[in-house]
Amino acid sequence: MTRVAYLTFDDGPAANTMRILAIQKQQQVKATFFVLGTNRKTIYRQILKDSHTIGNHSYSHQYSMIYASVNRYLRDFERLERLLRQTTGRRTTLFRFPGGSNIRLPKKSGGIKTVRHIAAVLHNRGYKGVDWTINSLDSRTPAPSKKWKITHSPVHLFIAARRDER
Ligand SMILES: [Zn+2]
Repeated sequence: MTRVAYLTFDDGPAANTMRILAIQKQQQVKATFFVLGTNRKTIYRQILKDSHTIGNHSYSHQYSMIYASVNRYLRDFERLERLLRQTTGRRTTLFRFPGGSNIRLPKKSGGIKTVRHIAAVLHNRGYKGVDWTINSLDSRTPAPSKKWKITHSPVHLFIAARRDER
């Protein structure tokens, strides 16, 4: 059995993205960037120009706003889709929930039902949801040591959403 690791970067484009792209070019490594809405338009284009993939990670990444309802999430999602289409001329086919698909939402937000509902809608529109199984925790301050204690385990799975679709 061949094992494949997919490298993904979340929450950009940010100040470091161009440096990451330069390293990847040098090392000939491809990745998927789950991006947010920003005005760094040249970076979105550069990611695709370098043959990497872009996925939708919501425009705002603001949990309290996007997870307030299915419609709120979709509106925010579509806002990023428009930005990406206008900026790059392409559409994305991948998405990743801010916080992952097993994010614990307050009851007021509808909890897991809301997440499943959003996932089902997006799957029906032809998007594929992607979680992660390993988190380098490099978004923390301070970031873990250079050896990167990679211990954080799965946030995940779209089994629930698929079940809803049947
Ligand atoms: Zn994120």
